[in-house]
Amino acid sequence: MPLELTEEQKLIKNIAREFAVTELRPRAQQIDEDDEFPMDLVYRATELGFRGAGYPEEYGGNGGGLTEQCLIIEELCKESALGALIGPSILATGIISSNNQALIEKYAIPFIDGKILMAMGWTEPQAGSDASNIQTRAVKEGDAWILNGNKSFITGSSWADAFYISARTKDEQTGEEGISVFITDKSMPGFQEGAVCHKYWWRGSGTGEIYLKNCRVPEGSMIGTLNKGLHVTFSMLDQGRLICAVAALGLAEGALEKAIDYSKQRIQFGKTISQFQAIQHMLADMKLDIEAAKALIYNAAALKDAGKRITMESAYAKLFSTEASKRVCDNAIQICGGMGLDKHFGIDRYYRDARALSIAEGTSQIQRHIISRELLR
Ligand SMILES: Cc1cc2nc3c(=O)[nH]c(=O)nc-3n(C[C@H](O)[C@H](O)[C@H](O)COP(=O)(O)OP(=O)(O)OC[C@H]3O[C@@H](n4cnc5c(N)ncnc54)[C@H](O)[C@@H]3O)c2cc1C
Repeated sequence: MPLELTEEQKLIKNIAREFAVTELRPRAQQIDEDDEFPMDLVYRATELGFRGAGYPEEYGGNGGGLTEQCLIIEELCKESALGALIGPSILATGIISSNNQALIEKYAIPFIDGKILMAMGWTEPQAGSDASNIQTRAVKEGDAWILNGNKSFITGSSWADAFYISARTKDEQTGEEGISVFITDKSMPGFQEGAVCHKYWWRGSGTGEIYLKNCRVPEGSMIGTLNKGLHVTFSMLDQGRLICAVAALGLAEGALEKAIDYSKQRIQFGKTISQFQAIQHMLADMKLDIEAAKALIYNAAALKDAGKRITMESAYAKLFSTEASKRVCDNAIQICGGMGLDKHFGIDRYYRDARALSIAEGTSQIQRHIISRELLR
């Protein structure tokens, strides 16, 4: 099913493109160099309406759905993978779907309005792919929950204000144990920001650790049902995977554009390298990967916007798009030869960032696991 954009979607895409080219492109290389999250660009993205994309007006959003969010992120990520963090975000969806009015007012609405930033705290040192193996524990004490544990690889640990945190819980009436999800913030006693990873990929994303040491969280901060928090986690991951997929798509498109430009300028053996069939076929394969990823992503987004569950569709979109993006960015470097490896040329950043996306939000192996599990249900 081809994606035929409405006039409004074309306008959104054009505004995103304009912002990406004029405001993100000139900064992208320096942000990578400094490894600093560009908060001012989040404010600009809010002014342009990107943060409100995909949320209903009653929460301060601009309407639209996951499709509009993906269209914007794709354009931003043609310039920098940080587009997936600066622009639209699915992070208010968990709170909104919980119908917890106090949390909606305290966190979701300010988040959509660009006043606060949020992050997801699922991963722990011993619980990556196996999200159910977390050790963080929440124990009820009077009118609060007391959380103890460590979270790792949390994107935004250094700059986010509020966090989804998964923790083991026990129903005191029945003795049943499970995992629940809490909304915490940095102002809560016992919440500590840990070290930020020193990494060569997705620089500026501020991915690091969080420590919860007798962190006192108000009773009403739990979202979803006691012990059934993995439903919240997995539902958010269905959408988060699509965001990773579309970020990878944007990177692949940006890398292809650079490779095409270079191939038309670089002269070897008396001709531009774009005239060699070997280069032409690489470009053709790159374009094919991009178009296939695009079809999978926008199909999944349309299904989600139509109210469908997209566990399998987002898994294969994420698997294909992130793997394809690695191939495309690798070929783009190959086409640019030695220049492709020069830091100042700027294409190595696409390759490094694409590499991270086939691990974040579930590795490629885990996406295959999800797809086969859905097939065999
Ligand atoms: C850029 C980036 C951003 C991130 N942001 C966040 C964030 O904001 N919040 C958050 O909570 N987490 C975040 N993470 C963590 C991310 O979700 C985990 O890194 C990911 O789920 C993999 O976990 P792991 O690194 O512990 O690898 P492991 O789970 O230890 O896996 C190691 C290897 O074993 C393979 N493997 C594991 N289990 C199986 C299996 N059953 N079958 C086959 N192969 C298997 C994996 O595919 C992988 O190749 C981020 C990670 C990255 C790289």
